[in-house]
Amino acid sequence: MTDPLICLGIETTAHTFGVGIVDENGTILANVKDSYTTPSGGMIPTKAAEHHLECCDTVIRAACEKANLKVKDVDLIAYSNAPGIGHMLRIGTFAAKTLAHLKKKPLVPVNHSIAHLEIGRKLCKLDDPLLLYASGANTQIITYENGRYRIMGETLDNGVGNFLDSFARALGLGFPGGPLIEQLARNGKQFIDLPYTVKGMDISFGGLLTHIERKIPSVKKEDLCFSVQEHAFAMLLEISERAMAQANKQQLLLGGGVACNKRLQAMAQIMCKEREATCHIPDNQFLVDNGAMIAWTGLLMYRQNKKKAIVPLKKAWINPYERVDQIDVFWR
Ligand code: AMP
Ligand code: MG
Repeated sequence: MTDPLICLGIETTAHTFGVGIVDENGTILANVKDSYTTPSGGMIPTKAAEHHLECCDTVIRAACEKANLKVKDVDLIAYSNAPGIGHMLRIGTFAAKTLAHLKKKPLVPVNHSIAHLEIGRKLCKLDDPLLLYASGANTQIITYENGRYRIMGETLDNGVGNFLDSFARALGLGFPGGPLIEQLARNGKQFIDLPYTVKGMDISFGGLLTHIERKIPSVKKEDLCFSVQEHAFAMLLEISERAMAQANKQQLLLGGGVACNKRLQAMAQIMCKEREATCHIPDNQFLVDNGAMIAWTGLLMYRQNKKKAIVPLKKAWINPYERVDQIDVFWR
């Protein structure tokens, strides 16, 4: 029997520098990360990129130690090349390219949004889920149809995480704001009526953000956080439910940092129960941005078709605005 293939994956689409090492059976040998945070104020891309540059060697080393192997022992290097913020993507691409060059390993670029879906599919043993991808910059309903991952609905402006982070910033909280809002919301009692913007299969947070920023001086912040969560998450689940009905999918998968929120998880479970579908929620470390999902998706691609998966070093670059439906899903 030959040894299973091993992939080292690097994630840098946003505030997290993550390195995962995974084998082709789906065993997670390491999943280490270091995320940029602030005590107050939002994320500044140049600062987040500096953070990634500063921690990249430590995180790569820590992942190798955790997996008890060296970079020379892995079979391929994968990296998230899209979608994301250019400042940070360039650091991950450069790190991946350097390792691939020095250790003479094949290099596989991976679409980050697809990686959220693939790691959930593997960990939760799902064949054909519908993904509610609720993260900082991205908020999309994604499912597989006819050789591609399709976006069935999405935000027309802010991602739900960015929306929560902007609201937290207006409250004088630090970044990331989502977990702080979740804590405050637990002590909220009064439900306040707020704008609720669902347009067909899409949603929008811009009007809601302006509205709640104006409410800050006059409403108890716990009540405001509670009411904001109820509205925003109901919007997410309304379009998820409609997409499940339209595409005839029976498995809802959650992904993205906002999916760590216990209230969103509870609401998703209620919705699925009511329509006799199942709801699947990976561990927090695989919901947030992470290297393991990049490694796993890179492995799936490489194992299926090396020629299609590998990018020559000279052409290894980033694609900040790539959408999942641009990718030929040749590995499924
Ligand atoms: P990601 O880009 O997928 O790593 O997700 C980051 C986003 O998730 C940020 O906007 C965070 O504020 C948000 N987030 C993380 N944990 C929570 C939580 N418990 N509740 C709401 N949002 C969260
Ligand atoms: Mg993400």
